[in-house]
Amino acid sequence: MARVFLSLGSNIADRAATISQAVSLLSMSDKINIIKTSSFYETEPWANKNQGWFVNAAIAIDTDFSAMELLKYCQSVEAELGRIRKQGEKWGERTLDIDILMYDDKIISNGSILTIPHPLMHLRAFVLVPMLEVKPDLVHPVFNKTISELYDELYNPEDVFLYGTILPKKE
Ligand code: ATP
Ligand code: CA
Ligand code: CA
Repeated sequence: MARVFLSLGSNIADRAATISQAVSLLSMSDKINIIKTSSFYETEPWANKNQGWFVNAAIAIDTDFSAMELLKYCQSVEAELGRIRKQGEKWGERTLDIDILMYDDKIISNGSILTIPHPLMHLRAFVLVPMLEVKPDLVHPVFNKTISELYDELYNPEDVFLYGTILPKKE
C-alpha cells in the first residue's frame, strides 16, 4: 500500500461538481482509499492565460495500485468525466485533469509517460495551496523541502482563492 497525493483541476462546465465526481469515482476503486480532501480553490490559469479560471483541489489517498496502474486509472476517470485530449495541445482547457504529485517518497522517471514527483508541482500555487491543507509537512524527495517551504519560496505565484469567495476586482 502506498500513500499518494493527487492534484485535481477543471476549467470547463460545472468545475466543482466535476472535481467532486472525480473524487467519488476514485473512491469507487477497491484499490483506493481517500484519506483527505482539501477545500476547493479557484485559480488563475497557470501558463496559458487565454482560458477560464480553474477549480483545483488536492487529495491524499492510500492505494494498492502501482504508480503506472494509478496513472491509467486516473486517465480513465478523466475520460469518463469528459476529458478530450487534443493532439499537440499543452495546458489547454479541460473538464478534468488528475496529476500524480507524489507516490510514497518514490522518485520515478519513466520518459514522458510518468515522472514522480510531478515535475512542476513545486512551481504551482494551484498545487501547493491545496496541499498546504492536506499535508504541509510532506517532504519533496528531490528538493528535500516541505510543501510549506516550497510554498514560501514560490516566486510570483498565480492568484488562488478559496472557491465560493467573492473574487476581488481586477485592477
Ligand atoms: P502538466 O503535467 O504540466 O500539469 P497536463 O496535466 O496538462 O500538464 P496532460 O496532457 O494531462 O498534461 O498529460 C500529459 C502526459 O503527462 C500524460 O499522458 C502522462 O503520461 C504524463 N505524465 C507524466 N508524469 C505524470 C504525473 N506525475 N501525473 C500525471 N500524468 C503524468
Ligand atoms: Ca496538470
Ligand atoms: Ca495531467
